[in-house]
Amino acid sequence: MWKLIRPDAYRVWNNGIVRERLWRYYEIFNNRLNAKFLIALKVGADVELEAESGKLWSVHDRTSGGFRGILKRVDIDEVKLEDMDSPKISYLDLKVELARRILSECHFCERRCGANRLEDKKGFCKLGSQSYVSTAFLHTGEEAPLVPSGTNA
Ligand code: SF4
Repeated sequence: MWKLIRPDAYRVWNNGIVRERLWRYYEIFNNRLNAKFLIALKVGADVELEAESGKLWSVHDRTSGGFRGILKRVDIDEVKLEDMDSPKISYLDLKVELARRILSECHFCERRCGANRLEDKKGFCKLGSQSYVSTAFLHTGEEAPLVPSGTNA
């Protein structure tokens, strides 16, 4: 359907500059590469999620290097994602925990309110510990290379 509404979004991939700059997006779009979050689920993080934040960030930084190495190997098909074991704690789990902790002194956006949203204190956006999704849809109004975009609001 979106190809009828936005034929430019289909044609834009004939532009070599767009293909070069958004190459990964294009490859994922064509099912030739895996989305990074799928790979992050398979990369282990050597830490307990109860550890203090400084330790979590340092393990995160260390694991980022390992993640990039595995990403390359998966991209060139040296390692198959489906053959990889799932770690007890993944790089993605670690990111989720760090994101949860950011809520305790919220700086998720440039307002940087510092509200403790884990305790349901509200900042400028009026969100507490829960976030709400009012809509989820394929957005066809973005710039051509980003159509369709999975959008939540
Ligand atoms: S506006 Fe909301 S998301 Fe942004 S920093 Fe404040 S509490 Fe966090």
